[in-house]
Amino acid sequence: MALKKIITVPNELLRKSSDPIETVGDNEKKLIKDLFETMYHNKGIGLAAIQIGVPKRIIVLDVSQKEEKKNPICFINPIVKKISDEKSIYEEGCLSLPETFIEIERPKVCLVEYIDQEGKKKEMECDDLLSTCIQHEINHLDGRLIIDFLSKLKRDVIIKKLSRNKQNPDRVVV
Ligand code: ZN
Repeated sequence: MALKKIITVPNELLRKSSDPIETVGDNEKKLIKDLFETMYHNKGIGLAAIQIGVPKRIIVLDVSQKEEKKNPICFINPIVKKISDEKSIYEEGCLSLPETFIEIERPKVCLVEYIDQEGKKKEMECDDLLSTCIQHEINHLDGRLIIDFLSKLKRDVIIKKLSRNKQNPDRVVV
């Protein structure tokens, strides 16, 4: 296992659409382990492969609460098959958008079809936080980010701020 660096906006890779997985082999299994390690290390509840720079349709999630047992789930080639009319709103953050939180309304329940780590086809009904989280991560696979839910004006302000942060040299106080 290896801890990977998470890429952040404005890295253009985050806008790339990821490729489907044909077979779950050793490389994919290693990638999944790296994704879990990187997600837990950064205290995230979800991570898509593209966020460590790999354009493959793989997502890892764990929405268990602090006091609960860990509940790692991996979705390969996930597709949303059904959504509820009922919506829920969460303030979402993203490991690829430091210090940015946006209220987003999404379907409260969604049915996701995917392949698991053993290569088996599965379906899962996702509710509330899990529903929001899986939809957020599937957006990553299509090059979509939470700032796309904002107006262009607000989006540009955030991108500009994050771009500026990146160019700043390290500050030293002597
Ligand atoms: Zn994200």
